[in-house]
Amino acid sequence: MNAGSIEEKIKKVKEKTLEFDKPFIGGKFVSTGKYMEKVSPIDGKVFATLEIGDENEINLAVKRAKEASKVWKSFAVEKRKEILWNLSLLIEENLEELAILDSIETGRCLSNFLRDSIPKAIKALRWFIEAVDKYLGHSYMPNKNTISIITKEPLGVVGCITPWNDPLVVNVWKFAPSLLVGNTVIIKPAEQASFSILRVAQLTKEAGLPDGVFNVVPGYGNITGKALAIHEEVNGIFFTGSSKVGKLILQYSGLSNMKKVSIESGGKSSFIVTKNNSSERLKEVAKILADNMFYNAGQICSAPSRLIIDKSVKEEFLGYLVEYSKDYIPSYPLDLNTKVGALVSKEQYERVKNYIHIAQSEGGEDICRFELPADLPEKGFYIQPHIFINLKDDCKCVQEEIFGPVLVVQEFTDIEDAVSKANNTKYGLAGAVFSQDINEALYVARNIEAGLVHINTYGKEDNAVPFGGYKQSGIGRDKSFMVFDEHTETKTIWIEHKSYD
Ligand code: NAD
Repeated sequence: MNAGSIEEKIKKVKEKTLEFDKPFIGGKFVSTGKYMEKVSPIDGKVFATLEIGDENEINLAVKRAKEASKVWKSFAVEKRKEILWNLSLLIEENLEELAILDSIETGRCLSNFLRDSIPKAIKALRWFIEAVDKYLGHSYMPNKNTISIITKEPLGVVGCITPWNDPLVVNVWKFAPSLLVGNTVIIKPAEQASFSILRVAQLTKEAGLPDGVFNVVPGYGNITGKALAIHEEVNGIFFTGSSKVGKLILQYSGLSNMKKVSIESGGKSSFIVTKNNSSERLKEVAKILADNMFYNAGQICSAPSRLIIDKSVKEEFLGYLVEYSKDYIPSYPLDLNTKVGALVSKEQYERVKNYIHIAQSEGGEDICRFELPADLPEKGFYIQPHIFINLKDDCKCVQEEIFGPVLVVQEFTDIEDAVSKANNTKYGLAGAVFSQDINEALYVARNIEAGLVHINTYGKEDNAVPFGGYKQSGIGRDKSFMVFDEHTETKTIWIEHKSYD
């Protein structure tokens, strides 16, 4: 793609009145008369108005999704696969438009969406399509005249409540396995990232999804999200977001129909560097940390936001780290050469700034001291990387998820101390250890309380392997065959038959 053509496309998306600016229910866009002004974090200016839904639209969507459920679950799996494959082709065809929408709405840089995030969403969708008919029930024959057949059945109508940081990837992780096993879905996207999934909703018509199978109701979390999660006729909620809201989702399930719930929440992931690394290797590891920590301005749930390092290599390592972190000073998000853009909203910007002040008041010293480039839009929400040393283990900034470009550094004395520091948090999403001593690395990997542990690498992923956390980082897993268990009910059918011997 040449730069000229993308500029034309950005201009077109900006000038066009969006036709997909309201809830998509029962196969059509529905006017609600309730509006939300959309501000772009790139320049702090209003770029669109979104019509939002509340309990009324959720009730309507549940009604339509329930009606559609009978038809959709009667489709052969092959047919469902074919329709979703069409959808993957249409998303691919419209990748640039979707990437521009996501970038304008979330401030994350366009190159991330074009080259990483949306291609990842397409790949995930295709993986689920390929996987679903390899996910089979099984049978058990406990004696000569009894058979039990263990089947997997759709849940019916389910809700997907999603965050803003990787909009289409997380939406696909939820809706794709659910649709493929025969559920009908209602998506409540994040307030900060609603347009790309509404555009995908428009594409579902062309792909051949029957009306009512795929619904999107944008709106506020505590109103629209709550109405969906507490609905008596919604049988599952697949949620990604903060631990705070994850706990509310669990309550809503208990207060209503005990619906199935899967929660993917935040993290404060550890990145342990031991003295068993050469100087050359320390340099490489510092780059791995900068690349994973400051990607998307730290707004990644599994960002390694706590460096836990052996005192004897700390000074050398931090020198390299500060150099590599310079690459993540933000620049204009819609420029294709930009590596990192803005934070998602004014609220998020203020939240992160507040954590930076807290870190300073807790005695932290920022070893980066980077300035923002002067040519950034004045009213945009940009923050440069910060790396804090000298914070105590129980400080707020060491314990809480900041979800911004703020890394904290902790020191350890021996490897048991490193593991104990890594585990001293309520979260358990990811962790890593860098050591050329395999026994040391395996000791750490086996003792870290986290769903994803890396040895001598970070950020590896594949649709075939599970993603999710321990402790308050969540319940359940996204991706892999495990995910189909979350989106189905298990039924055992017992058969007794006559035996002739
Ligand atoms: P959030 O919890 O504020 O919101 C997530 C979603 O929940 C949004 O759609 C929101 O509208 C909705 N919501 C808010 N209040 C609700 C309520 N009372 N009832 C029902 N729904 C409600 O999180 P966020 O700020 O959008 O996203 C950032 C968080 O997501 C971070 O904590 C991050 O770590 C986490 N995250 C986790 C993963 C993962 O896979 N583990 C991936 C991405 C983001």
